[in-house]
Order: sequence, then C-alpha cells, then structure tokens
Amino acid sequence: MSADLPLSTTQRTTLHRLRERGRADRAELYAVLDVGLICHLGVIVDGSPVVLPTGYGRVGDTLYLHGSSANRALLAADGHEICVTVTHLDGLVCARSVFNHSMNYRSAVIFGTARLVTDDAQRLAALQAVTEQLVPGQWDHARQPTRKELAATLVLELSLAEASVKVRTGGPHDDDEDYDLDVWAGVVPAQLMFGSPEPDPDRRADVNLPEHIKALAGHRRGS
Ligand SMILES: Cc1cc2nc3c(=O)[nH]c(=O)nc-3n(C[C@H](O)[C@H](O)[C@H](O)COP(=O)(O)OP(=O)(O)OC[C@H]3O[C@@H](n4cnc5c(N)ncnc54)[C@H](O)[C@@H]3O)c2cc1C
Repeated sequence: MSADLPLSTTQRTTLHRLRERGRADRAELYAVLDVGLICHLGVIVDGSPVVLPTGYGRVGDTLYLHGSSANRALLAADGHEICVTVTHLDGLVCARSVFNHSMNYRSAVIFGTARLVTDDAQRLAALQAVTEQLVPGQWDHARQPTRKELAATLVLELSLAEASVKVRTGGPHDDDEDYDLDVWAGVVPAQLMFGSPEPDPDRRADVNLPEHIKALAGHRRGS
C-alpha cells in the first residue's frame, strides 16, 4: 500500500461522533505510528478482553509487536481479531464549563487478524523495527540477539489495512452563554521530552555515551 492511498472505510473504522476529526490519508496513519513509543493491544484472553500497553515497530504496512515466548496476550492474539491503538497527547483543553473540557490528541486505531511470525528473516526485521522505534540507532550499536534470545521471543504481525486516525486540535468549544464567565479557558500544550542520559554504574569505564543516545536529551518525541 502506498502512503498516497486513503485509509480504509470499513464499518468499524468509520467515525460516527465528530467525524470531522477523522483523517483519510494513509500518510497520517504512518505519521501517528512513526513518532510513537507505546501502543495498546486489545485482545481476548481466555474469554476476557484485556488491553495491554507495549512497544511496537512498523515496516511498510505491517505493525509488529514483540514479547516473551510466554506472553499470554501475544499467544492469544495469534490467528484472532485484535485491536491496537496508538495515542499522542498534545494538550489539555481547559474550558469555562467542566462539561467542555477536552484533550488535544492524535490517535490511531487498527483492526485485524494477528499472526505470529515464524520466518527468521522477517522476525529479525521486525525486531530491528521495534528496537529502532524505541531508540533509533540501537540496532547497529547494541549486540545482536542470540539464537537463544530469538527462541525466547514472540513476534506478532498486524496488517495496517484496516485503520482509522482521529485528531483534535485547537481551543475549547464553550457554550455561548459561558464566554462571559470569570473562568480561565485555553490549552496547556503537552509533549514527551527526554532528559539527560543516566549512565549504568556497572558500565565499562572506557565506553562513552554514543551520539545517537546523547541526541535524545531534550528531544521531543511524538510531535
Ligand atoms: C487522549 C484522548 C482522550 C479522549 N478522551 C475522551 C473522553 O474523555 N470522552 C470521550 O467520549 N471521548 C474521548 N476521546 C475520544 C474517543 O477516543 C472516541 O473517539 C470517542 O469517545 C467516540 O467514541 P465512539 O465509540 O462513539 O466512536 P465511533 O465514532 O463510533 O468509533 C467508530 C470508529 O471510529 C474510529 N475511532 C473512534 N475514535 C477514534 C480515535 N480516538 N482514534 C482513532 N480512531 C477512532 C475507530 O475505528 C472506531 O472503531 C479521547 C481520545 C483521545 C485520543
């Protein structure tokens, strides 16, 4: 699929409320996913729905999740319908009434049948994507996974074919009669920012902080 193609318009990805906040371009889905760190995986485990936060990576139109070979949610997801969301909080929207408070955000919802990946090359590419999503530059910097580590790792794939994106921007929408109230209204912007790297006390003394990790300090993630 190309970034130029529109997002799916299946029944379940069609926004009903505040449709004008929906985005139609596939490129907007990629934009939300590519600056994120955490997704929420919704899956039925032993008959009960569970939603778990986890890392992820994207390769083309496939989203990859990974975890321990004992991960119950990943095992339960294999061959079944799941739902994955990614959310960025962009601001707190303070209104004159408590009713009209809101948040500014960009979020993606993805539906599909998940599959455990068994092909070795695809598994490695997926793990590279998951690692690079977390800390760009680490795949080449850190030691590569051993056979034993790979055997202890599950990799799950989910197509990005069926997905929606919703975005809220701007200030509060108050009721006309509330604009004269003695109440502050506006937006408090929000963003994720990394601090200075804190070295592991057990590190080898001659190993210096690499540039790609040094560059994270003060770096805004998610925008
Ligand atoms: C940070 C954040 C905070 C929010 N807080 C609230 C809140 O407090 N109360 C509230 O009512 N809503 C909140 N929302 C919006 C919420 O996600 C839903 O969009 C909204 O509640 C409408 O729900 P619905 O079931 O009527 O959606 P529908 O419009 O019926 O959903 C149909 C389909 O549209 C798509 N869709 C819906 N919402 C989203 C989304 N957010 N992102 C991507 N695709 C979407 C999905 O594919 C979904 O299956 C918040 C969203 C975010 C990201």
